[in-house]
Amino acid sequence: MTTEQTTASDTAVPDGPTAGPRAEIGVIGGSGLYEFLEDHETVDVETPFGRPSDPLVIGEVEGRSVAFVARHGKDHRFAPHRVNYRANLWALRAVGVRQILSPCAVGSLKPEHGPGTIVVPDQVVDRTWGRPHTIYDTEGPVVHVGFADPYCPNGRQAALDAARLSPLQVVTDGTLVVVNGPRFSSRAESLMHQRAGFGIVGMTTMPEAALARELALCFTTIAMVTDHDAGVEGGDAVTHEEVLRVFATNVEHLGSILRGAIGRLPAHEPDETATCPCRRSLDGLELPFPLP
Ligand SMILES: [Zn+2]
Repeated sequence: MTTEQTTASDTAVPDGPTAGPRAEIGVIGGSGLYEFLEDHETVDVETPFGRPSDPLVIGEVEGRSVAFVARHGKDHRFAPHRVNYRANLWALRAVGVRQILSPCAVGSLKPEHGPGTIVVPDQVVDRTWGRPHTIYDTEGPVVHVGFADPYCPNGRQAALDAARLSPLQVVTDGTLVVVNGPRFSSRAESLMHQRAGFGIVGMTTMPEAALARELALCFTTIAMVTDHDAGVEGGDAVTHEEVLRVFATNVEHLGSILRGAIGRLPAHEPDETATCPCRRSLDGLELPFPLP
């Protein structure tokens, strides 16, 4: 790892410790979402936490350089609790990424938000356990980052502006509760989440969002509802087949929303002069090791 970073004059993405293609925007998402990368290169990145779920796929979208990582790996081989979130986030930062869009499939806890609804949550409740949840897991200076507002204000705005152009229903806020899975919720758990006022339930994007904050990266979740969670409307319990069917039906719209959001993200800002609060999360903190 090196701490030296210089700004490349031609790409506006800082040079970093990895050789090869660089990207300013990262997308962490399922398969079917990166077909829109026309010319792309595959980049293998080693991290102190091991390998990301898959090699990064780097290409251009809407005139922006984008690095894509398939969260669950090729052939969807990693269950949500087995994804190497730390390696995925570290690898994205190592190729220059500072803004991340993180699409995910969720269950709805509100009867009025049915399958195919897009939700851009503004809050998260982490009910996962047993997942490595911090990169600052060494002895040395202790690092506490603020997480009151887990998502990037600029990223959320870009995602919402893009989503409103789609034919899908768009929900502009709400709380995402992330459960550990891989099983779905019991009716009692689902009812508890509903009564707490949460809007959607998923199994990914945590600790992803927290790790992004620990790496001073902008992070935005774009959630697509694939089902009503167990017990909502007293309907049938969710099945994996139904989730896959609804996702496949709407994946094209989700791809368009992602493309639109990528094009609307603010221009890349160098670390020294970045203005977004997410990028300033480590200001004044002593780190136990340099970031890539
Ligand atoms: Zn931000």
